[in-house]
Amino acid sequence: MDIIAHALWGLIIFHKLNPWLVIFFSIFPDILAFSIDSVRIIFVEKRFTPKKMMARKFPPYVVEIYNYTHSLILTAVLFIILFFTFRTASYYILPWILHILVDIPLHPKEFFGTPFMYPFSNYKFNGYHWIKLPALLANYALLALVAYLVFIH
Ligand SMILES: [Zn+2]
Repeated sequence: MDIIAHALWGLIIFHKLNPWLVIFFSIFPDILAFSIDSVRIIFVEKRFTPKKMMARKFPPYVVEIYNYTHSLILTAVLFIILFFTFRTASYYILPWILHILVDIPLHPKEFFGTPFMYPFSNYKFNGYHWIKLPALLANYALLALVAYLVFIH
C-alpha cells in the first residue's frame, strides 16, 4: 500500500500515541526496504517517474529486507520483548504490525506479496493490488469513514 495511506491508518488507529513516531513506524517497513534502491534510481540512474519506479527490477537485497520488515513473526517477537522491557516503546511496534496486516490483502503475490510468516514460511496471500483504482478508492473512503468515526462522531 502507498506510504501516505499507511501513515494515515497509523495516525487514526493509534491517535493517542506520539504522531511523529506513529508515522515513522507506520511507514518504516517500506522505507527500510525501498529507500536505498529508490535513492539509486532517482540520483544515480535518474529514472524518476512513478510508472518506472513501480516497473523496475528490484535487486535481491530489497526483497530480503522486505521479507524481514513484513514478518508478523519477527514483529510479534519484537513486540513481546519490548512489552516486558520498555513497555511504552512496545506500543510503537503496533503501527508496524498494522502496516503488515493492511499489506496482506492489498499486495498480489507477484508484486511484493506480504511474507507475514517469514522466516518460517514464504507463504504469501494473493491479494488485490493496492494501486488499482477500486482499491485506492475503497482504501481512502474507508480511511475517511474511520477518521470520521474516531475523531468527529
Ligand atoms: Zn509494506
